[in-house]
Amino acid sequence: MAGNAGNAGNTAFTIVGAGLAGAKAAETLRAEGFDGPIVLLGDERERPYERPPLSKSYLLGTSEKEQAFVHPPEWYSQHGVDLRLGTTVTGIDPDGHRLTLADGSHHDYAKLLLTTGSTPRPLPVPGADLDGVLYLRRLADSDRLKETFRAASRVVVIGAGWIGLETTAAARAADVEVTVLDTAQVPLQRVLGREVGQIFAELHTDHGVDLRCGTQIAQITGSGGHADGVLLADGTRVEADAVIVGVGVTPNSGLAAAAGLDVGNGVHVDARLRTSHPDVYAAGDVASAFHPLLGKHIRVEHWANALHQPQTAARAMLGQDVIYERLPYFFTDQYDLGMEYTGYVDPDAYDRVVFRGSTESREFIAFWLAGRRVLAGMNVNLWDVTDPIRALVASGQTVDEIALADPDVPLGELVM
Ligand SMILES: Cc1cc2nc3c(=O)[nH]c(=O)nc-3n(C[C@H](O)[C@H](O)[C@H](O)COP(=O)(O)OP(=O)(O)OC[C@H]3O[C@@H](n4cnc5c(N)ncnc54)[C@H](O)[C@@H]3O)c2cc1C
Repeated sequence: MAGNAGNAGNTAFTIVGAGLAGAKAAETLRAEGFDGPIVLLGDERERPYERPPLSKSYLLGTSEKEQAFVHPPEWYSQHGVDLRLGTTVTGIDPDGHRLTLADGSHHDYAKLLLTTGSTPRPLPVPGADLDGVLYLRRLADSDRLKETFRAASRVVVIGAGWIGLETTAAARAADVEVTVLDTAQVPLQRVLGREVGQIFAELHTDHGVDLRCGTQIAQITGSGGHADGVLLADGTRVEADAVIVGVGVTPNSGLAAAAGLDVGNGVHVDARLRTSHPDVYAAGDVASAFHPLLGKHIRVEHWANALHQPQTAARAMLGQDVIYERLPYFFTDQYDLGMEYTGYVDPDAYDRVVFRGSTESREFIAFWLAGRRVLAGMNVNLWDVTDPIRALVASGQTVDEIALADPDVPLGELVM
């Protein structure tokens, strides 16, 4: 495709999507000395904020809204970042270097970064549009859940993934009865597999959750337009004051697809985070990026990726010779369990899980292995081990399984 045709005088670097990734890209452009115009366009009314607290401390009421924002309000003007909130981009003309906005106006750019994130997947069952069927993505969603937990005595959570389980823990903390429904045999099965998923099953049943795995949902039932329960395919009915849906997200890649950019499961970018058009980049939840260590494209829906990937994208936009090769990393907090996960494992791409420490007391590291190579490691209630776990995974070297399971062998000594 063409370079700067049709718009040669424009020097603006424009970012579409004012979430964590968009804000970090703007910050990096300035930190790297870029002194041209930076425009950050976002369809939400709030300035960029981080989402992890929305299902944890903010939902629990232990942190304030202000703590979620990426930067203080004055940061944007102080750094010459033209932040335009409540602004939806509806079209991209990559060769013309021009955006169309929802109000019909146009915006020209020299280089473009897409950080449009992702959107919760709707539940495709009858009744999913009733009042009281709730999703969690934005600050206002978290506020609504908080209100619900104040008024409700029982809720159903559909989907035992990260969002569903963290929301469940917050509901239990508010003394709300929770039934969790999932089609898989254990929570988080797709990400963690059966053995480790079972640990999360026990964590939640120990906290009084009615966990029902292997269930199919037929319908969300309602009365007077408001959800009042869930009907399962086997005819069982679970009553609820509200139904919370957390069944995954889809990347907001429609803009890119309509513009003719390569899109699959997200916007395809190379290791420099550049799309199929030389002046358009993508980062964060929306990007399906070629990962040099893994040798394939992956799309990562996690905070650390939204924090680091746009920094590489911003440098690449400035012409620096950079690639993104960090291993995926994510974390969760549920009740008194905190964990960090480093690495990447396709479902069924590992042979076995090796544990170091005690799964009963929930203080351990789980390692996913293929042959004698460690693909990923997850530390639960044990801290300051992410660096050696990352080194172990990144090294690609074979390890001694007995030493791997032995807490007396320092992790750093496992990489030869
Ligand atoms: C409740 C919750 C809890 C989470 N907890 C964790 C956690 O514990 N650990 C972890 O690792 N990850 C967690 N995550 C995931 C993490 O928050 C995401 O990976 C991160 O928010 C992705 O950032 P992003 O900037 O790529 O996208 P987003 O945060 O989705 O931001 C994209 C922005 O672009 C806007 N936008 C989209 N299309 C347009 C358009 N056409 N025009 C203008 N603006 C547009 C969107 O409205 C949004 O504001 C959590 C997510 C949620 C929702």
